[in-house]
Amino acid sequence: MKTDIVVVGGGAVGAAVAYFVRLIDPGTEVCVIERDPSYRLASTPRASGGVRRLFSLPENIELSKYSIAFFEDFAEAMAVDGVKAEVWFKRNGYLFIVPPSALDVLRRNFDTQRRLGCNVNWLEPDELKHRFPSMNVADLGAAVHSPDDGWLDPHGVLMGLRNKARSLGVEFLADEVTGLVRTGSSVTGALLGSGRRIDAGHFVNAAGAWAKDICAMLDITVPIEPLRRFEHYFQCQDPIEPLPFIKDTQRLAFRPEGSGYTGGVPTLAEPRGYNFDVDHTYFDHVVWPALAHRFPQFERTRCMSTLPGLYDQNDFDGNVIIGPGAGGLGNFHMLSGFSGHGLMHAPGCGRAMAELLLKGSYSTIDLARFGWQRLLDGTPLREQGSI
Ligand SMILES: Cc1cc2nc3c(=O)[nH]c(=O)nc-3n(C[C@H](O)[C@H](O)[C@H](O)COP(=O)(O)OP(=O)(O)OC[C@H]3O[C@@H](n4cnc5c(N)ncnc54)[C@H](O)[C@@H]3O)c2cc1C
Repeated sequence: MKTDIVVVGGGAVGAAVAYFVRLIDPGTEVCVIERDPSYRLASTPRASGGVRRLFSLPENIELSKYSIAFFEDFAEAMAVDGVKAEVWFKRNGYLFIVPPSALDVLRRNFDTQRRLGCNVNWLEPDELKHRFPSMNVADLGAAVHSPDDGWLDPHGVLMGLRNKARSLGVEFLADEVTGLVRTGSSVTGALLGSGRRIDAGHFVNAAGAWAKDICAMLDITVPIEPLRRFEHYFQCQDPIEPLPFIKDTQRLAFRPEGSGYTGGVPTLAEPRGYNFDVDHTYFDHVVWPALAHRFPQFERTRCMSTLPGLYDQNDFDGNVIIGPGAGGLGNFHMLSGFSGHGLMHAPGCGRAMAELLLKGSYSTIDLARFGWQRLLDGTPLREQGSI
């Protein structure tokens, strides 16, 4: 079998690439190879659903601006046969809270966000207390609130992108990529678990937390590792005022969900690996003290469920790797290493990848600094002051 573009991995990221390729050029054939169409272990459906413009790097802010605007229109834009693709976007805001020691970083990020046209507000501790009376602000230096950010349904995003891409003619193959064929400085074919081979002009590695396994098929080493983190659903008996998505510098991140809350405290100290075991003591030992410190109501909270999931953690600098060049290959494109931002940046990166594939350069957002070259140069591009 032969096609123009093979995308390995059909999560939100792979589906977004396929959608944008067909949107921009309906004549280009795209085949997405996804080994598990139920997405049982995929990261996308396990995400918290947070979407925010609160980043330090202009690229990440621009990706969020593009993607959040895309999500606002998602239901209509991804509708198929008149059936809307709901993602239940809740524009209930995002709030970064920091101790006095992190004020400089918060201020710099705030200035960048403002310069790039984001609706963000600086809140001193007394304003924060006024806004969120239940919050303990005694140890806080300030906060930045972005009222237009919020959260949405990750599964809805995945299904919307997948169904729309299919309606535009993208083929989703339920199969596993087990090998990649290298000929000189190009990849020429993908070998599948079913025994089939697919040849193509371009290959995109959108395998998320499994990206390094795809690279290993070409003897390429990448610093992207599976990093387990837990998403807890918990309830609180005592009422708290309506909250935005809250993040602090100790990595506590949570938001309201139904009659409770969902969130956790991801840690980089977690051993890397494909680990889906649940540590039922983690909430009590790590998450609960952080919650109770910030809101006294959480002294009496109950964890109702804990779901493990994997970040595609880029241990080099915590940002996506996009574009060609890995292993000296001109037509093998990385699109992984999102390190916790992949849901919110799937539309922006999907579009960017499609532009690269079809035109050879970026036209919407310049993501050149997120390319493979920074690994060769040994120059990490880190986010400052955020998770
Ligand atoms: C608990 C948790 C909370 C998170 N919260 C947020 C959040 O609030 N906001 C945010 O933006 N991001 C969040 N993320 C991160 C986000 O989920 C990921 O960055 C994003 O889903 C990555 O999408 P993906 O399509 O690259 O990966 P995936 O959804 O994992 O898709 C990759 C696919 O590749 C397939 N695959 C792998 N190997 C092969 C192969 N050899 N052959 C064929 N198919 C293969 C897999 O089956 C999988 O379906 C969170 C992640 C976790 C775990």
